[in-house]
Parts: sequence; C-alpha cells; structure tokens
Amino acid sequence: MKVTIDATLCTGCSLCFSDVPEVFAMGDDGLAKVLVESPAGDLAAKAKDAATGCPAEAIIIKD
Ligand code: SF4
Repeated sequence: MKVTIDATLCTGCSLCFSDVPEVFAMGDDGLAKVLVESPAGDLAAKAKDAATGCPAEAIIIKD
C-alpha cells in the first residue's frame, strides 16, 4: 500500500498525527506529512483508520 496526503485538502487539524504518529507528522507548513509511505501490518491498519477519520478526506491510500 502507499500513503499520500493531498496538501490541497489537508487543513492541519492534527487528528492523523495525534492518532498515528508512527506514520504521520506535522510538516513545516503546518500540514500533515507522511513518515512511512508503505506501512505494513498494524501500521497499515492504523493508516487506513486515519484515512477514514480524516475530516478533509486528504489521506489517500492505494493498495
Ligand atoms: S487528519 Fe486529515 S486534515 Fe487533519 S492533519 Fe491529517 S491529513 Fe490533514
């Protein structure tokens, strides 16, 4: 799987990097950035949950 952030949609709400700091962090621009682009196992599941929970639908996951 591959995780990316659509920076045109992300509002920097902090939900993803608060919930899954192993995969997401706040970038210098205040928006989310991806630390692990191809997470596996538990982290993959957490990344998917974060994508589902993102209020801006800015987390894109491709299998
Ligand atoms: S949850 Fe969505 S809108 Fe919020 S910081 Fe993460 S990617 Fe951006």
